[in-house]
Amino acid sequence: MPTTARDWLERIRRLEIPERIRIMNVCGGHERAITMAGLRNLLPAAIELIPGPGCPVCVCPEEAIHQAMQLALQEGVILVAFGDMLRVPVNLPKREIRSLAEARANGAEVRPIASPTEAVKIAQTHPDREVVFFAAGFETTTAPVAAMLAEGVPANLSVLLAGRLTWPAVAMLLDSEQAGFDALIAPGHVSAVMGPEEWEFVVRDHHLPAAVAGFTAESLLAAIYSTLRQLLEGRRFLDNCYPEVVRPGGNKAAQRCLKEMLEVADADWRGIGTIARSGYRMKPRLADHDARQRFPEYPLPRSRSGGGMPNGCDCARVVLGKQYPNQCRLYGTACTPRNPIGPCMVSDEGACRIWWSGGVTH
Ligand code: SF4
Repeated sequence: MPTTARDWLERIRRLEIPERIRIMNVCGGHERAITMAGLRNLLPAAIELIPGPGCPVCVCPEEAIHQAMQLALQEGVILVAFGDMLRVPVNLPKREIRSLAEARANGAEVRPIASPTEAVKIAQTHPDREVVFFAAGFETTTAPVAAMLAEGVPANLSVLLAGRLTWPAVAMLLDSEQAGFDALIAPGHVSAVMGPEEWEFVVRDHHLPAAVAGFTAESLLAAIYSTLRQLLEGRRFLDNCYPEVVRPGGNKAAQRCLKEMLEVADADWRGIGTIARSGYRMKPRLADHDARQRFPEYPLPRSRSGGGMPNGCDCARVVLGKQYPNQCRLYGTACTPRNPIGPCMVSDEGACRIWWSGGVTH
């Protein structure tokens, strides 16, 4: 008989946990499953579950969003993007256009899409228009973009790429020696693509327990139980608690597409700064389909107030697991999903949005 969520909970409750243990997840899907299942309230009080850098939309640099808005406003351009990106605001005065949704309200043709295939279809349907695909995402989203490029795309389709890798953000936190967590739940979908081995550095270099989890309460609780036992028994290994999907080595075909079409480079994370080798850029031979090469650059105005995040918004600290969403003073007051101030309240993978949707009101 399969082990149920209740079984895992009972096993966890039977453990003798002498002190506070902080477990970080790095996937918006994990955070959503944890919050919606109410796992924080069910676990012993000594266990703290910390949402970490699991939202690609939240860390997409303002410069990229601004560039996408400006391209969308050009005559003859159709801008397509994954739906989450449309409402993410750039930190500009309210009198200016601050998001793709506002650009659309001002006459730009901005279309939400759910997959790269839709971008190709739109380009094929409108051969007389320039179609720009604003592609922000982690490895799981970037791999299908690379596959699309590998298959060949219409001459009028270009990609404004803002792809990011997850593990370098975790490595940066651990290297800072102020990581703020004692164990890691590694992302299931990213591991399915890139291979679980990518997370072995957590155990090897930092001597922390780690477990790959799926998106059910059972899988997450199994991963939590695994990391707790590792800590309590003084053992360390990378456990795969999502073996039905995550296989050793990952998805080789997806990795091949990523390698052939894209290069890994240093990249900016909104509100956080540059993280070494944490981004994807298109290979030079794809310049004809690289929106950064094909169109002029539209820099953000220098005189704008604030920094990478709007004034008072703690998204960068939330993304890095330094602060819980409801510790931001704007949470649920000035900032709600209906009126988001920062990107973490916009995206379905943003911790603020997830906590608010899960009924955490203060
Ligand atoms: S509640 Fe809003 S303003 Fe505060 S960190 Fe979250 S997104 Fe940013």
